[in-house]
Amino acid sequence: MAVENRMDKIVALAKRRGFIFQSSEIYGGLNGFWDYGPLGVELKRNVRQAWWSDMITEHDEITAPAGAPTSFDMVGVETSIIMHPQVWKVSGHYDLFADKLVDCRETKARYRFDHVRGRWASYGGNRIFVATDKDAEEGIAFVEQRALKFFGLKKDKLAAIEFGTGAHGGLSFNGPPFTAPYTPAAAIEGLRPITDADSFDSVLAPEATKPGTLTDPRDFNLMFQTYTGALQSDENKAFLRPETAQGMFVNFKNVCDSSRVKVPFGVAQIGKSFRNEITPRNFTFRSREFEQMEMEFFCHPGQSLAWYQYWRDRRYSWYIKHGISKDNLILREHAKEELAHYSVGTADLEYAFPFLDAGSYGELEGVAHRGDFDLRSHSEGKLCKQDGNLVVELGADGKPKYLGSGKDLSYFDDESRERFVPHVIEPAAGCDRATLAFLCEAFHEDKQPDEKGVMQERLVLKLHPKLAPVKVAIFPLIKKDGLPEKAAEIYRAFKQAGIAVQYDQQGAIGRRYRRMDEIGTPYCITIDGETNTAGTVTVRDRDTLEQIRVPVTELVAHVQEKLKG
Ligand code: ATP
Repeated sequence: MAVENRMDKIVALAKRRGFIFQSSEIYGGLNGFWDYGPLGVELKRNVRQAWWSDMITEHDEITAPAGAPTSFDMVGVETSIIMHPQVWKVSGHYDLFADKLVDCRETKARYRFDHVRGRWASYGGNRIFVATDKDAEEGIAFVEQRALKFFGLKKDKLAAIEFGTGAHGGLSFNGPPFTAPYTPAAAIEGLRPITDADSFDSVLAPEATKPGTLTDPRDFNLMFQTYTGALQSDENKAFLRPETAQGMFVNFKNVCDSSRVKVPFGVAQIGKSFRNEITPRNFTFRSREFEQMEMEFFCHPGQSLAWYQYWRDRRYSWYIKHGISKDNLILREHAKEELAHYSVGTADLEYAFPFLDAGSYGELEGVAHRGDFDLRSHSEGKLCKQDGNLVVELGADGKPKYLGSGKDLSYFDDESRERFVPHVIEPAAGCDRATLAFLCEAFHEDKQPDEKGVMQERLVLKLHPKLAPVKVAIFPLIKKDGLPEKAAEIYRAFKQAGIAVQYDQQGAIGRRYRRMDEIGTPYCITIDGETNTAGTVTVRDRDTLEQIRVPVTELVAHVQEKLKG
């Protein structure tokens, strides 16, 4: 329960202080879509900026960074959301980018197959499988309620029902049991289809009144469709991109020809992606419109494993550097069975989001070794694996199923005089998920004495200063004696230095501090009597609560230095 409370509190704070709102809220909202408010937009912009700086702006391409096999170039692109439809046929998304869904014939509700799980419930010789798509404790309570209702029993008769996780070696239905810790093996096992013995006929769907109403699982393509031009015909059908990565692959040659980059090099992009998720949930974690931060790193096949390790470790460090605790972040190498058919290795960076069970993690970013699958596919046509090799997939007529561009996407290395198709390492992060993780990690509750020494509850966002939407707050202690004028001067000095600043002269100083703590402002500056006499102000640190006096003349430089931290 405490776990849910924490997430509820974060969601409430995000709305109350203008970080994140439900999209179109005044019309009841639209499931899977979110809006960022005045503070949220700054937080997310800072997350983007921190990623872009790490990848591009602050990247030194002349000297090889620690851990890298050699020096390398990094450039950015911004490509269109709607691309040539052939891109998605060749990339595999057209045929394969699907989740399995099940429908309830009775309620018309739709569920993602791998989200439906539950427990067996037996009473009076009758056994049903009570299904839910809720997580953890909420799911268990839901199953118990449903079973009582189904068997027509009162709450105090719960003990008379026998519950079990049934078949599948301790797994329930097609997902891991509620209580078991998440492991890759359990996840794979969880996707195993139910056996004949555990027939769908005994499954009581989450909202249904009788068992046996779920359809067999079927594929549902997650790409949003639209049309280009006035005619809504098949030839004009187009898709909103489900990932930004293809924009980098199709521009590989353009970037090589126009910017003098040499392999190894990376091309990065930040942009919106769209997936018609069957069950969007957990706040912004699984949305239908979201932003990705992806980078494709093109390298020599012989060096690709070293680069894979380099990017995997570097991406892990980025989250730690920006405030995620090592206790809450794991780097999970995919088991062989989990790998996409073209992938030599993939690692997920996963965060212990508060809406998950203790010991469970949700994906923040995937770092994948994609081999030469993408460039070869866009050149030769959609590839598939045959006898361990990637070959062009043929249709029923024996011709390539989906044609590539026919362009030569190989690379010629001037120095080694070698021609090869580069291998690709792809760190693919979600900007919204990263923003949510930073928000969750930053959320703290404590008690602090107010000016009268009375202990008060405090909500504080301990955001990394680089990510905090407001860096400094300026408070004149009282609204007279020239303090507001002095404070306005200081406020403008911060504005001119390009540091995000807020001015607040409303209410007791303690309340002003608390307002700033709640939005994660690292430094609060108070202008008081001594500012007039000694030319100093107090600077209060959000985390240590330490207050020091700093001369007004050194103030901006002092904060600038601290923000570098
Ligand atoms: P998941 O398994 O959670 O659906 P995925 O493995 O399909 O994610 P990728 O295709 O690897 O995700 O996309 C890269 C990143 O984009 C993810 O790590 C995640 O941060 C983000 N992302 C993917 N789908 C969504 C979504 N529906 N909402 C928000 N972010 C998403």
